[in-house]
Amino acid sequence: MGEKTSKNRPRQVSRLKIKLFLILRDGLECYWCSQLFDTKSPPTIEHVEPLSHGGTWAFSNLKLTHKECNQRRADSWPYQEEF
Ligand SMILES: [Zn+2]
Repeated sequence: MGEKTSKNRPRQVSRLKIKLFLILRDGLECYWCSQLFDTKSPPTIEHVEPLSHGGTWAFSNLKLTHKECNQRRADSWPYQEEF
């Protein structure tokens, strides 16, 4: 048994680096609504292909979205990344 290690889930520090990379790649726009992020609506990491659907933490599978947009989508996808 033991912990699930196959998803290779990054720790908090690593996720900050992932966010910085995604901002540099995609800019400060939400993937879902195209509105800019701000301090009230900070970016969260979204998996295009959810982990529960076989997605990974590869950068090609990651987008930045508002938390609200992420949650809205989570209604139809059984996955959501909490910060
Ligand atoms: Zn949004």
